[in-house]
Amino acid sequence: MIWDELDPSMAQLAAEGLLRRRRTLEAPCGPEAVVEGRRVIAFCSNDYLGLANHPSIVAAAQQAAGRWGVGSGASHVVSGHLWPHAELEERLAAFVGREQALYFTTGYMANLAIVPTLMDRNDAIFADKLNHASLIDAARLARAEHVRYPHGDVDTLAHRLEQSRARRKLILTDAVFSMDGDLAPLPELFALAERFDAWLVVDDAHGFGVLGPGGRGSLAHFDLPPSPRLILMGTLGKAAGVSGAFVAGDRCVIDWLMQRARPYIFTTASSPMIPVALLASLELMVNGDERRAHLQQLIVRLRAGLDGLPWRLLPSPTAIQPLLIGENEAAVQLAERLFVRGLWVPAIRPPTVPMGTARLRISLSAAHSEEQIDTLMGVLRECANDGYA
Ligand SMILES: *Cc1c(COP(=O)(O)O)cnc(C)c1O
Repeated sequence: MIWDELDPSMAQLAAEGLLRRRRTLEAPCGPEAVVEGRRVIAFCSNDYLGLANHPSIVAAAQQAAGRWGVGSGASHVVSGHLWPHAELEERLAAFVGREQALYFTTGYMANLAIVPTLMDRNDAIFADKLNHASLIDAARLARAEHVRYPHGDVDTLAHRLEQSRARRKLILTDAVFSMDGDLAPLPELFALAERFDAWLVVDDAHGFGVLGPGGRGSLAHFDLPPSPRLILMGTLGKAAGVSGAFVAGDRCVIDWLMQRARPYIFTTASSPMIPVALLASLELMVNGDERRAHLQQLIVRLRAGLDGLPWRLLPSPTAIQPLLIGENEAAVQLAERLFVRGLWVPAIRPPTVPMGTARLRISLSAAHSEEQIDTLMGVLRECANDGYA
């Protein structure tokens, strides 16, 4: 039967140590999670500023339900574009200093919208090898040539751009790489985009709200000038603590996406509670320097404290701090070991990361305390001494 190959395929995944397992949480997202009856310190979420369960955002969402209802009823281009969606777009555009912004239900969909709307089979997309899966899928959906350059390698990229005979070119990159935590060389990429008349699409899922003055993100961090060719995607389910995403850029680009992007047009607009919650979140992000400074201190503390462990801490300046383990099984075992000791750190395996580079991905949040970081470091040291290296 058609389903007969599923069981052996599943067994194969299990044999390779690649089965994913969901854990069900019994409390809201926060630095402490209640999972399967156990209270653990969680280093898993992308809630970098600790806003996912913030009382004023929760209150805004509750009031929004009373004022706007819970459903939008239709897509944005029919009748689902409510005042909170419009207001959020204006505030986001102003915050990141671009002419216009378009709100999406998820970052995955925003990426699927941008790339295929601007590129077709006569074009070429130049993508960093470590780009997020949603950017890879976006390139596939565009059916353009997909040229992948070695991670952060601007010289190779320049060479490939030079050789390309494609009609239109687009450079596609994460700003902060989601599994490594390092930054893309955005000024160099922008210079190449100018030189070769290419689009530059920057996915700032992990920089928005965290990096740059006022948390305005990676483009602000590098002080890149606004340009029609520079398209910013930021997600709103990570540092912003809610859900959704936006694309910001020049009016001509955003208007075109609104007219033509299928993942924008053919989906129901989010519940109006979401943009109302996001307006409250944006307020906290704008005034979030203290949160960002605390997060920065935690990053420095963790990196100093993990020096000397048998595992290599990748050189990340951001809240994503990956500890390279190598083999899938070893990473899973160490994660299990930490979990029974009350620490939840996810093991990340292929295909999310390249073969042989399974890792523990420690995500820090401004909601963590110094004591929680110290506890993690202490237990990791004990695991190393117990021969888990
Ligand atoms: C999380 C993430 C996305 C997807 O955003 P969602 O809003 O979760 O769909 C896109 N790109 C990167 C780099 C991400 O980390």
